[in-house]
Amino acid sequence: MNKVAVLGATGSIGASTLDVIARHPERFRASVLSAHSNVTALAELCGRFRPELAVIADPALEGELARKLAAAGVHCEVASGHDALTAAASGALCDTVVAAIVGAAGLASTLAAAQAGKRLLLANKESIVLGGPLLLQALRAGGGVLIPVDSEHNAIFQCLPGGRPDLAKSGVRRLVLTASGGPFRGRTRADLAAVTPDQACKHPKWSMGRKISVDSATLMNKGLEVIEAHHLFGAPADAIDVLVHPQSLVHSLVEYVDGSVLAQLGNPDMRTAIAHALAWPERVEAGVPPLNLAASGALQFEAPDLDTFRCLALAFQALRAGGDAPAILNAANEVAVEAFLAGTLPFLAIAEVVEAVLTELPSQTVVDVESLVARDGEARGAARRLLKRAC
Ligand code: NDP
Repeated sequence: MNKVAVLGATGSIGASTLDVIARHPERFRASVLSAHSNVTALAELCGRFRPELAVIADPALEGELARKLAAAGVHCEVASGHDALTAAASGALCDTVVAAIVGAAGLASTLAAAQAGKRLLLANKESIVLGGPLLLQALRAGGGVLIPVDSEHNAIFQCLPGGRPDLAKSGVRRLVLTASGGPFRGRTRADLAAVTPDQACKHPKWSMGRKISVDSATLMNKGLEVIEAHHLFGAPADAIDVLVHPQSLVHSLVEYVDGSVLAQLGNPDMRTAIAHALAWPERVEAGVPPLNLAASGALQFEAPDLDTFRCLALAFQALRAGGDAPAILNAANEVAVEAFLAGTLPFLAIAEVVEAVLTELPSQTVVDVESLVARDGEARGAARRLLKRAC
């Protein structure tokens, strides 16, 4: 029995993970569940999955969670706060940690799971973008294994011999990340001047949380994934390409020096990547309908439009700058996306805020978590000042 901590259980990845877990009660048990503030949803999940521990990140809500669980006759330990999250990620109640918190808020628990040698299923891409070298160091020290859940990286993992080999020795020439292009594929900058959060969150292929949906619409999501791929697979920026593929059936590709290109295909449903990561190196049923290529029609591929979708170009720029530039990029993006979702920043200004913060805070070497968190705060402060001036 594999005991699984689902951090971010009330989110989109959390729901898909719990769906896969529920299909295999003989193999997996959801032993820890967490949320930020959605007490009602967390209490309901606890009623269904009977974990040993429920963590609510907002400490003000611990009492309410305990009351709801008691009223429902659910007996599990209750804890709150970010320290409780890191303790849960590294503690004895789980063998596997699904890192599915959104944003930089997931960094501490992801690092804690890596340091404790857990089997780490990484969905929270922001934590590897922010603290890539520190996360890899923690993984080495902990001796655990990281299996990517992000569908593109999971696809690449599946197309590489042994998952994460030395790319040069394995004859890999290029990693190619596919991108759906998001809801605004083919639009011009003029078309995008007045788009709303609801339009941006209406993804044509994937059903996801609102933050990642906006990132998909700006192509920042692909930019974060380029940085994630660099850290996960040790590929330099020049060996990572992005290819727009609107059908979202090819999840990514690996090109080898002999001209072979291996791809992983499947219906666009996160349960495939999650089931693969949970069961690896075995395979389990995920509840995903079989891919019917005869019925799917033509598959299209095109180069991304880096002039309209500036965020992808900025992510490559930050990766090439190195040091903590990706962390600065990520922090500025989180602040800008929050403002866009709140209706106080136009869509196209997301890239402008990110670019201005990258210019204001030139890259520095990553020393430790404390200095990284301080720089993350500095970048958020710079982004907020820009937003204030713009209003
Ligand atoms: P959602 O917004 O749907 O869910 C986020 C989860 O994180 C919720 O459980 C939420 O709790 C919790 N959370 C939010 N803020 C905090 C915080 N400050 N502290 C602790 N917990 C917090 O996000 P997604 O499931 O869409 O995405 C999760 C991660 O996975 C992201 O990093 C995303 O980029 C990545 N990812 C998502 C994919 C998808 O298909 N959705 C695909 C690939 C990667 P509450 O409900 O209480 O707010």
